[in-house]
Amino acid sequence: MEATARDFLVRLLETPSPSGYEQPIQRLVRDYLSGVADTVTTDSHGNVIGAKNPTAATRMLLAGHCDQIGLIVQYIDSDGYISVQPIGGWDPMQLVGSRVTIWTATGPLPGVIARKPIHLLTDEERKIVPKMKDLWIDIGSSDKADAESVVRVGDSVTFELKFQPLRGNRACSVAMDDKIGLWVVLEAFRRAAAAGPLPCALFVASTVQEEIGLRGAQTSSYGVDPHVAIAVDVTHATDCPTIDKKSEGDIGLGKGPVVYRGPNMNPHVVHRLLEVGKNQSIPVQLAASGRATPTDANVLQTTRAGVATGLVSVPNRYMHSAVETISLDDADRAADLLAGFVRGLEGGIDWAP
Ligand SMILES: [Zn+2]
Repeated sequence: MEATARDFLVRLLETPSPSGYEQPIQRLVRDYLSGVADTVTTDSHGNVIGAKNPTAATRMLLAGHCDQIGLIVQYIDSDGYISVQPIGGWDPMQLVGSRVTIWTATGPLPGVIARKPIHLLTDEERKIVPKMKDLWIDIGSSDKADAESVVRVGDSVTFELKFQPLRGNRACSVAMDDKIGLWVVLEAFRRAAAAGPLPCALFVASTVQEEIGLRGAQTSSYGVDPHVAIAVDVTHATDCPTIDKKSEGDIGLGKGPVVYRGPNMNPHVVHRLLEVGKNQSIPVQLAASGRATPTDANVLQTTRAGVATGLVSVPNRYMHSAVETISLDDADRAADLLAGFVRGLEGGIDWAP
């Protein structure tokens, strides 16, 4: 991965974007796109859309969601402890013992989430998985008035955001889901545009609010009105202990981007992706889904009168935790795969299955 592209990924990962609170990351995306796209727009929902060659006949959309799961401040008690609601799908176990950041009007505020020490838990309490309502954030305040002087109901919260390289060109961070996918679509857009005149109108959307119901993909794809669209998200890597490959498939880190097959995917899109992989010697892993996937690809496909849709995924271990782990090589190859797909969209294409 090129150094500048890697630096941009780190900036995406260290910029907060809980669903509905994506404005800081979208500023970063607009800055990035202003150097490569013909036009950059932000719709009323918050999606940022870059376009290159927008008047060409075939319209292609690349979509990656910029939002991450988070928390939202719900209540501050008389001792200054803060209760939260989830934004998106959380395992409360992941929150116990974590450092968090509350994104307040005056800037980031550190806090911790914990529970009483194991020595003080009763035998019954040790067996129970904590619920969100039983957790609290401690910012060090002594009372409600002090906490309220810095925190407001409705402020968003994330884990402490930190990129950590690991061995083997792997890395972990909060919210690889889906900032790695967002990086892939932006990088694919840049690579496709840099390789010469495009055979199609190319749009890239940094979609909002995926984690609370695929909402930004719905509005942005209606606006773009594409013929063909590919969503990039993360998928579960199954190459760690305790995951059953018979039920979850065989997906490994560092073995290449994942191309999904199933009813949510147009067979021509799948075929073309696999051909690009073969012709450009990009390793590709196959995954299956027998239903509408829980990704932006779901709503892209049913936009207006229907869109030829694909789903390319980056393998990710430990989804929705503070240590989501991916291979940077997989992301790099995914960007090449999509750039190759875009550059192959010549002539009138009949997408009917
Ligand atoms: Zn995602």
